[in-house]
Amino acid sequence: EVIDLTELATRVVHRVQSLAEQQQITVQITSSQPWQVLGDPVLLEQAILGLLDNAIKYNHAGGQVNVRTMKQNGQVILEIQDTGRGIAAEHLPHLGERFYRVDKARARSVGGTGLGLSIAQESALAHGGQLHIQSASGQGTTVRLTLPVVQGHH
Ligand code: ATP
Repeated sequence: EVIDLTELATRVVHRVQSLAEQQQITVQITSSQPWQVLGDPVLLEQAILGLLDNAIKYNHAGGQVNVRTMKQNGQVILEIQDTGRGIAAEHLPHLGERFYRVDKARARSVGGTGLGLSIAQESALAHGGQLHIQSASGQGTTVRLTLPVVQGHH
């Protein structure tokens, strides 16, 4: 199924809006140009929802989440940038593992199962794409979901 990734991301941003407001976090999408990808809209929506949930959950009051879509080197990219606590380098290689959580003790105060990122990664791979996470402790996180463009679309 051909999906406009910008439209899908816009819909998910709207879905998390009240959750973000409760935590005094601003979530915005700055792209409006449609980018067509081939995929399963339910799987992709779930993946994006998990990523946005993380960007809000590991953020702080007054923080921001910026979402944009773009095309680069024949691929469509969804980028989610947050101003949250970031992820220390030692944890980055493990984030695609199921049930992996950075702070096991904090698991009790900030709810989560450690599945969000692994689901997003599996979904990206199933669509012939990739999930790339760039972060440093205390410096926010940028997650990029890369998907192949649909031939004949632009
Ligand atoms: P859930 O399945 O509910 O998303 P979770 O957030 O614990 O649970 P993942 O989404 O897989 O699980 O994330 C794994 C770990 O990576 C988290 O425990 C968290 O410490 C860290 N993490 C993920 N996204 C971010 C982010 N945007 N900023 C900071 N830390 C993050």
